[in-house]
Parts: sequence; structure tokens; C-alpha cells
Amino acid sequence: MALVTKAIKGTKDVLPKDVYKNQYIEATCLGVAEQFGYKEIRTPVFEHTELFQRGVGDTTDVVQKEMYTFDDKGGRSITLRPEGTAGAVRSYLENGLCNEALPQKVCYNTSCYRYEKPQAGRLREFHQFGIECFGSASPLADAEIIALAKTIFDNLEVKDLSLEINSIGCPSCRAEYHKALKEYFNARKDELCDTCKDRLERNPMRILDCKSPVCSEIANDAPVMLDYLCDECKKHFDKVQEYLKAQSIEFNINPKIVRGLDYYTKTVFEFVSSSIGAQGTVCGGGRYDGLVEELGGQKTASLGFGMGLERLMLLMEAQNCPFPEPQAADLFIVALGDKAVLKALEISKDMRAEGFGCLMDLNQRSVRAQMKYADKLGAKFNLVIGDNEVESGCAKLKNMSTGEETEIQLETFVNGFYNISLAEQLADLEINGEEFDFGTLFGNGNEE
Ligand code: ATP
Ligand code: MG
Repeated sequence: MALVTKAIKGTKDVLPKDVYKNQYIEATCLGVAEQFGYKEIRTPVFEHTELFQRGVGDTTDVVQKEMYTFDDKGGRSITLRPEGTAGAVRSYLENGLCNEALPQKVCYNTSCYRYEKPQAGRLREFHQFGIECFGSASPLADAEIIALAKTIFDNLEVKDLSLEINSIGCPSCRAEYHKALKEYFNARKDELCDTCKDRLERNPMRILDCKSPVCSEIANDAPVMLDYLCDECKKHFDKVQEYLKAQSIEFNINPKIVRGLDYYTKTVFEFVSSSIGAQGTVCGGGRYDGLVEELGGQKTASLGFGMGLERLMLLMEAQNCPFPEPQAADLFIVALGDKAVLKALEISKDMRAEGFGCLMDLNQRSVRAQMKYADKLGAKFNLVIGDNEVESGCAKLKNMSTGEETEIQLETFVNGFYNISLAEQLADLEINGEEFDFGTLFGNGNEE
């Protein structure tokens, strides 16, 4: 029985009183993406399992240990998306976006599912803001997506994030590196975890990303890819750095960053915070020049990042970053009696048509109870109407923050409300702005 009232381990509700924070973060991400020319794409929460096996890579932790995979009633193997890139690439190919002007730039706010050990900053259902840029091999694109993430953090006033960048080369220079890695790990093969023993042959770089303490200890002294980069990859990495510097974006070169997904090539990066504990990576991404081809398209140099929104929220809360609070409703109508209710409905409709937020009590309680309810909702103005007010066509509008009451005609209510609330706003300006020049609002009166 208790199961019915308990959310699944590793999942989290966002309550109505808190959701403005999520909405603010999401809107900021989408707004910044738009400034850089990235348009939103929405793809399904589940895909064919094979898409992730091929796209994410079948030697990764994500595919080997973390996917929510099941057979549907038609016997297909289905997986809840563990990340956003594979689905975006699938859609890019299936819908022919690859035939439009390149690069194609997309972004998304999505839920992701990974069967991991839930802890601070690690959930089984979490949310990512991600972007993908399809069809640019230029280091300008690498610098652009890093700048985009940085702009989001700046706009949200997040501080103390370090940007760590690395290059993990291309398939041709990586072959040499794989050899060196195999040699290195072979010497200590017996100490590696079982998964990594298997990885040693198939994909030794994955060992660098293993979370087991012994493997990561061994990995500490492993050879680094930066020492093996071919000329082209080295030149690319130098340019990325030059373009970041041109935008005054500070970074550290960190040869340990390899990322957890198989598809990366050349540039990889993470934004890491030390204020939210062990799960400090708030954003990770990089270039994946081989992925589109791997999934059946033409070779298309591409890149992107995923930003963990729950971790971002933790970080913003830890740093006391400002969240603009949602505006309270403009008006609450306390209506008593049948005629007053009808009048209140009429006024509410007109108010909303003019863009004002307008509430009333659905339960038709006593005036006192309605007042109490209105108080809790915190509307800016209250209007009380009963039979007398309907008859006289006139009622009192009360400003809930100053307590000031003003007579208002019900017939032309919205107009009257507009004037009164505008007057309030202007009065506020006078208080805060000392000598506010009203001439700038209404013209300076100089015209002949
Ligand atoms: P980690 O090393 O922390 O497991 P990852 O390399 O698996 O991260 P990515 O696949 O690159 O992470 O996902 C991008 C971002 O999504 C991460 O940087 C992180 O902010 C967030 N993220 C990843 N897994 C989780 C999770 N289980 N819960 C919450 N956020 C997550
Ligand atoms: Mg992970």
C-alpha cells in the first residue's frame, strides 16, 4: 500500500511553490541558446535500445550498467533515454535536417533516466539542458558551445565554476594512444575491476573514466592523450584555446577529462564546481565527429553539451544566486451572493483579456474566509462586491500592500484598475528613483 504514496527511488517532485526556480533556469537556458541561434527540438522519451548501444557506446557505464531497458508488448527492446544526443542525431537524420543549411543548431530541455546509486546530485530521473551543433568541423564551433554554456552561467550569476578542457584526439591519433594505454594497464591488469578487464581489449580509454577507486587510482598515472595528438588535432585544440581567450573565457587544460560517452573526438570539456560535493560536474560536452556516421548518416562533424539541471539548481542554492520571484496575481475578487458572483465572472474575464491575473474563491465561503484565502494567495489588490455594490455599480478596491482603498466603477472596472495600478507603479518610481522625470514617459511637452 505504502508504495502508492512513495515516489520511485532517485526521482524528485517539483512542488508548485518551487517551480518558478526551475522555470527561470529553463527559460534562461533557452533564451541564451536562442541568442546563439539554437532552436528547440523535442524528441521522444524512449527510443530503440540499439540507438543508445551504438550511439553512446556499448563499453560505457551508461550502456553497460545504467539504462532503463525493457521489452514493450510488441516485443521491441525499448530504452528510456539516458542522454539527449543520440535521439537528437536520430531525429536530425530521420527528418532530413541534414539536407538543410549547415550547421544545424538545436537545443533541448529533457528528462534523462539512468539506473545509478541515488545521492546528492545523482538521480535516476534527472534533467538536462543540452545543445547540439551538426555540421561544423571548425574550432569556432567548439568555442561557441563553450561560450554558450558560460553565458548561461553568467546570466544565472553562478560563480566559481572552473572550465576544464582537453582533447581526446581523432581515431587516427588515438590508435597510437590506445596501444600505450593497453601497455600501461596490462602491467596492472589483475588489479582492474572486471568491467575494466574487458574494456582493456575493446576500449582502454574507458578505464580512465571508471568510478571504482582502484581503477581510478591506477588511471592516475596513465599516459595522456595530449601527448599523442596528431598535427590536425593539435592545431584544432590550439585554435579552440585562442578563440576562448578572444572571448575572455578562462580555462584549465585537464588531460584527465575523457567524458563518459564513447562518441567524443577532439575537444571535450566540463564545467566543474567545488561547492556541491563529489558530483561537481554541472556541464559536460565536446565534439563527436564520428557519431552521425555511426548512426547511419554521412560523416558530419558535430558537437554539443549536456548540463545537469538538478546540479545547477543545487549550485545556485548553495551560492544564494538570485531567483526572480513570480509575480502575485493582480486582483482577488471577494464576491458575496449570486449577482455578485456573476459580476465577478464578468470582471475576471475582462481583466484576463487585458493581461491581468485575476482570482476569486471557487467555494463561495463567507467574506472573512474569502479574505483569509485571498491573503494567503497574496494578490496585489482586493475587490469586495456584494448585492449593494452590484446595485450601486460602485465598489472599493483595496491595495493590499498599502491598505489604501479607492472607489471604482464596476461598469468600467478594467480601465479604472489600469489607472489605479499604473498610478501605484509611478508612485513607486518616485520613492525609489528620487526625481523621476515623468516627462520622459509622456513626452516633454516641447512640441509646438
Ligand atoms: P558523472 O561523471 O557525474 O556521472 P556523466 O559523465 O555521466 O557525469 P553526462 O553523461 O556527460 O554525465 O551528462 C551531462 C550532465 O548531466 C553531467 O555533467 C551532470 O551534470 C548531469 N548528470 C549526469 N548524470 C546525472 C544523474 N544521474 N543525476 C543528475 N545529473 C546527472
Ligand atoms: Mg555518469
